[in-house]
Amino acid sequence: MIQQEMCATNLIIFGPPGSGKGTYASRLQLKLGIPAIAMGDIFREISKEETGLGQRVKEYMEKGDLVPDDIVIEVLKERLAKDDCRSGFILDGYPRTMEQARALGEIVEIDAIIRLLVPEWIIVERLSTRRICKKCGEVYNLRYLKPKKQGICNKCGGNLYQRTDDTAKVIKERLKVYEKQTQPLLKYYEGTVPSIEFKCEKIDIPPEAAVKEILNGLEALSIQ
Ligand code: ADP
Ligand code: ZN
Repeated sequence: MIQQEMCATNLIIFGPPGSGKGTYASRLQLKLGIPAIAMGDIFREISKEETGLGQRVKEYMEKGDLVPDDIVIEVLKERLAKDDCRSGFILDGYPRTMEQARALGEIVEIDAIIRLLVPEWIIVERLSTRRICKKCGEVYNLRYLKPKKQGICNKCGGNLYQRTDDTAKVIKERLKVYEKQTQPLLKYYEGTVPSIEFKCEKIDIPPEAAVKEILNGLEALSIQ
């Protein structure tokens, strides 16, 4: 178990790659006052390290495969033990396997799951035109969520880049992995953890509108 305040709010944002998890989580953290923890970002940092671990993580990520559970669980535990998680957190990109879900359940109680439902054509279209800030990780899209100045982050002025795993071939692999290993987790949580659902039907829905709907859903669960 980790040390948290009595009224801590622990959330999971759940959905396929490209469903908007990171985009919404980064905005929800400001509204809810709890940190968004993006496992993908943590592993992208680790993959840059010139260590055996960095090299291994990089290989998995480049193929669109999952990093092995023992590594992921270790990294998660370290992250959740940090001070900023005392009043809660929003997990983005964790858990992705049954083993990860079980490990999480042993250290903390989850208050709600935010489920994102997005049709596959939107995912593929979004991921192939996605750009990310090198400095702060903010997510943009060349067509649907353009930065004010081309190639530059609105928030911090950093340069935008395309993730090496945002290519047609790797996107397909990531979607396959999601369906096989991660999607079934919804069943695992069903009936035990309250959840809200956000259905995305339009590719250009403004993040603020989505976040508003999610916040309404959380409020209905008496979370906020
Ligand atoms: P997306 O959700 O768009 O696929 P992420 O940025 O969340 O992207 O993750 C990128 C990659 O990082 C994954 O394809 C995987 O290799 C690795 N990764 C992130 N989170 C996990 C996790 N919980 N378990 C295993 N691998 C992970
Ligand atoms: Zn930035």
